[in-house]
Amino acid sequence: MNSRKYPDWKDYEKQIFAAIKEEFPKATVTFNDSIKGKESKSIRQIDVSIRFKENRKSVFGIVECKYFTRKVDIGKIDALIGKMVDTGAHFALIFTSLGFTKGAEQFAKKCNIGFRQVPFEFLKDFGYVPANGLDDVFMQEITYNEIYCEKCKKLNFYEIKVVRGFADFNEDIICPECKTPHLKNVRTDGGYKVIKRFNKKSITEKEYKETIVSHLIATREEWDKKHTFLWEHLKLLPKDELCFICSKHLDQGFPGTMPTEHEGKTICFECMMSQRTLLLDSKIVC
Ligand SMILES: [Zn+2]
Ligand SMILES: [Zn+2]
Repeated sequence: MNSRKYPDWKDYEKQIFAAIKEEFPKATVTFNDSIKGKESKSIRQIDVSIRFKENRKSVFGIVECKYFTRKVDIGKIDALIGKMVDTGAHFALIFTSLGFTKGAEQFAKKCNIGFRQVPFEFLKDFGYVPANGLDDVFMQEITYNEIYCEKCKKLNFYEIKVVRGFADFNEDIICPECKTPHLKNVRTDGGYKVIKRFNKKSITEKEYKETIVSHLIATREEWDKKHTFLWEHLKLLPKDELCFICSKHLDQGFPGTMPTEHEGKTICFECMMSQRTLLLDSKIVC
């Protein structure tokens, strides 16, 4: 098992924190700040806020750490400018692993928005992004779609992940072989991929379920690890406080960890939304 596949969120957080500290050594840097908007009067969540004094003036900057799976486009810049105006920020920084799209970069510079590149492509492979500086994970949903490609004469079995609470990205779901768009502008902020291809037009309900189950088994170590590395203390908790399928600590407070019932077992809402209940149904976990 390649341990590099599993990002350590704490390391990531520390890296961003260290980078900001280095750049603004005299500033007060706050993670996961919330500020009441001057215009909107509603609470604005700020990934990281930076406050310092320069020539006796207070300077306030905001940092967005949310763009790891797509390039930052002009729409995101627009949204960030709105946030800057509303919170009274003098400048903003975006942490991204992929940079800006054409046009967005120039526009950003004009508006006092800088960007810092970080190599975190693995977040996409990983299929999830935890909240900044907090030990909770945003809700992840997974959908499966089988779509026959007329050009390739093959049925593509897609897995599409959505991370609720994360910056939303939409894209076309394309055939990996001929690049025909099969689904247009689908929300894919957790990434998507073809997990199996069939040489026929349609599959049965049984084949549909079997495909998901074998995929879940094959990737189980991955999503097990994903939860357990964040929840080292969970071994100390009583079993009934853990999701029966993924062992994540159940907590009413967060959408992904909310307890729910399936076949008499208490499981987390994320497992419910990820079709992992098929593992219970087919007695793979029992
Ligand atoms: Zn195709
Ligand atoms: Zn679970």
